[in-house]
Amino acid sequence: MPTYSFRCADGDEFDARFSIVDVPASTTCPHCGQPAKRMPSAPYVSRAGSSAYGLIDRSASSAHEPEVVSGTLPGAPRRAGGRYTTNPLHQKLPRT
Ligand SMILES: [Zn+2]
Repeated sequence: MPTYSFRCADGDEFDARFSIVDVPASTTCPHCGQPAKRMPSAPYVSRAGSSAYGLIDRSASSAHEPEVVSGTLPGAPRRAGGRYTTNPLHQKLPRT
């Protein structure tokens, strides 16, 4: 459930969790008992476990510790006649 921020007339701020479909515009302040209005903010929804979170995690880790691969990517073009490219212009490139 997302967490929403509320603030009462006394200025107390607190977070409360509500379902995204029935989040009230105001609730009772747990400190002073006055009505507290919901503050405009994006609801915080946990991303842990989602595929988007995993993608972000993998991108961040591959920036400083790239995975070791043993071959080309699936679908990558195969070596042509022992060479890595069929472009004739690449034959003129200096060799190491
Ligand atoms: Zn209050």
